[in-house]
Amino acid sequence: MIVIIKPEARQEHIDSLITNLQKTYPVEIQAVKGAHCTILGLVGDTSHIDPSSIENRDIVDKVSRVSEPFKKANRSFHPDNTIIEVMGRQIGGEEIAIIAGPCSVESEEQIISIAKDVKESGATFLRGGAYKPRTSPYAFQGLEEDGLELLKIAQEKTGLPIVTEIMYPHTIDKFVEDVDIIQVGARNMQNFGLLKELGRIDKPVLLKRGLASTIEEWLMSAEYIMAGGNENVILCERGIRTFESYTRNTLDLSAIPAVKKLSHLPVIIDPSHATGLSWMVEPLACAAIAAGADGLIIEVHNDPTAALCDGPQSLTPNKFDKLMTKMKKYAEVEGRTIITNRG
Ligand code: PEP
Ligand code: MN
Repeated sequence: MIVIIKPEARQEHIDSLITNLQKTYPVEIQAVKGAHCTILGLVGDTSHIDPSSIENRDIVDKVSRVSEPFKKANRSFHPDNTIIEVMGRQIGGEEIAIIAGPCSVESEEQIISIAKDVKESGATFLRGGAYKPRTSPYAFQGLEEDGLELLKIAQEKTGLPIVTEIMYPHTIDKFVEDVDIIQVGARNMQNFGLLKELGRIDKPVLLKRGLASTIEEWLMSAEYIMAGGNENVILCERGIRTFESYTRNTLDLSAIPAVKKLSHLPVIIDPSHATGLSWMVEPLACAAIAAGADGLIIEVHNDPTAALCDGPQSLTPNKFDKLMTKMKKYAEVEGRTIITNRG
């Protein structure tokens, strides 16, 4: 961290700032006196320092960080890619993980039928919301605990690990027991109480990027989970809010190479929520593979027009099957694999 002192500052005030900083923080301070101003270099673990607490002193002009505030998620401290293992499948390795299923679990018949279809097409995980964070309190809120039970049945019938969203800290024990990957939705990315609780378990967490969050804020949320001891975090870009209204959100594909440079954690893409339009899922899923994504999470519904949630962005099982064949070719170009049943 670098502290730039105002040119008019008196030496005795600079000395007392140095003494004060040394007392407050576990850092070594190197002062460089230039012709016009003095610069203080704070060396050591500065992750606990809030730059504004130094910047608000009278003699300080500006404070800047030279390294990122996230440590455990930082590639500098962990050069190799993190590979997360779930029921014999890997996320972050050579194989591209494909998570598919409906936005919400609606009935036993619906979830079993979709689970069988997506498995047949080569999906490696089943998604399905039991607890749904809806904008309107009058909209379908999910089958909640009954939905988790139906996901368990689908998991038993197909062998597909299940991915589903958590909304409340009091349900964590149930999720640890029943769910294979716990999803934190975009709306809860900065629910720090929930993130801290997820740090205490060792189940993989799929952390979606917040509706209008920067990459650094997203990685700081991953850091919350990792700081608690749970390093099994998968990042998911699902589109961010921009001025564009043609699509539901704007897919930030540049987040893939950016996160890969900054962090060792796997990154997956959700083209369904990013666009809100089923016909756009295919081109963006392929683009995500080309940009280096470690996986995709795609909404599939057996009857999208009758879906209780997110029908317009859901693929039919037939369209999903065709997409798998196409994505497989893109994966090959990238030196990655997608294993479909057709070989
Ligand atoms: C979902 O996956 O169904 C969902 C609600 O996603 P997001 O949090 O990205 O909106
Ligand atoms: Mn959805």
